[in-house]
Amino acid sequence: MTGPAATALPERMRAAVWHGAGRPLTVEELPTPQVEEPGDVVIRVRAAMFGASLVRAVTIGHPRMTPPSVLGTLVAGDVVAVGDAVRRLAPGETVTLDPHPPCGRCDQCDDGLPALCATRSGVTPGAHAQYVRIRPPVTAHARHVPPGVSPATAMLTEIVACVLDATDTADIGPGQDVLVIGCGPVGLIQVRLARLRGARQVLCSVNHPWRRELVRQAGGVPVDSGDVSADHVAALTRGRGPHVVVEAVGSAATYTSAFDVVRDGGTVVGFGGCPPGTAIPLDVNAVHYRRIRILGSYHYKPGVFEEAARLLETGRLDLEPLLTHRIPLERIADAVAIARLPDCLVPVVEP
Ligand SMILES: [Zn+2]
Repeated sequence: MTGPAATALPERMRAAVWHGAGRPLTVEELPTPQVEEPGDVVIRVRAAMFGASLVRAVTIGHPRMTPPSVLGTLVAGDVVAVGDAVRRLAPGETVTLDPHPPCGRCDQCDDGLPALCATRSGVTPGAHAQYVRIRPPVTAHARHVPPGVSPATAMLTEIVACVLDATDTADIGPGQDVLVIGCGPVGLIQVRLARLRGARQVLCSVNHPWRRELVRQAGGVPVDSGDVSADHVAALTRGRGPHVVVEAVGSAATYTSAFDVVRDGGTVVGFGGCPPGTAIPLDVNAVHYRRIRILGSYHYKPGVFEEAARLLETGRLDLEPLLTHRIPLERIADAVAIARLPDCLVPVVEP
C-alpha cells in the first residue's frame, strides 16, 4: 500500500555507505526509501549526527553494525510522504525522532529496564542519507520541531534525554557540588542541566584550553583534566568533594578519578562507555564504609525523550554553541577527521 505523496519521491538518492572498519565512507546512489506499509513515514534528512560512537564504529567496528550499511540514528528532517494509516504526521512538518523507543514486550522491558530494550527499531537505511523511512513504533515517537528550534539542535534531543535521565537518576539538585569529567557534548550538556536543576557549583574537567570558555558559558567552572585529584577537587568543594561525579569520558583512568574525588555518601555516575573488559581497582571497603553510590547510566526511561524536547523548546538549554562543524554529504569521507579535530564538538551531517 502506497500513500499518494510517496510517488513524488525520486527513485534514487545519495547516501554515505560504510564498508567496514577502517575503510572510508563513500557517497553512493541507493534506492530512495518509499512508503511500503500503511504506517510508514519518509523523511527528508536536514541534520544527522556524526558522534563519537560512530567514529568508533567506522574506525574499529561495532557489534551491532554490519557493513555495508548506512550509519546514523540521530536525525531531524521534513516529512515528505506518509502511509494511509498515519494520522500524527503530515508532509511538510519538521520532526526529530526517538530512534529506539522500547518495545514493551521483551524481557528487559518486562523487568522495568526499557532503556535496555532488545528491539532496535531505528531508521531505514540510516540517517546519513537524503531520505529515511521510519515505521511504528518509531513513528509514534516522532516529535514536531517548532519554528524556534533548528533541525541540528532538535537532532540532539536523544542526547539531552540521556543526560536528563542521568541527572534525574543521580538526584542532582539544589545546593550540590557536581563534578563532570569530560567536556564533550555530553559533558557540556550535563553542566547546563545540573545548573538548571539548581546545583550550587558544577566543575567540569577540560583537556583543551578553548573549552574553558564553553564550560563557563554553560554555567560551570573549568578544571584542567590534570588537576582532577582528591586534594584539588576537595579544595574547590568546601573540603568535602562533589556530591555527584559524572564520568563522561569512558576510560579506566577517569572512572578511577571519579571514585577518588567523590565525597562520603556521594554518587558516581558511569555515563561514559568503555571498551568491553575495561576494569579498574576499586576500594570496596570505601564503597561500603563511605556509602558510595555507583550508578550506571545508559539511554533513558519512556517519557524522558519528550521531556528533553520540551526543554529544548523552552530555549532554556542553548545548544547552538555545541554545533561546531557542518559536513555536507559530499565530504563524508572526511567525517572521522573532522570529528577528531580538537575544536569539534558536534559534527552535523547535512545530506
Ligand atoms: Zn523491549
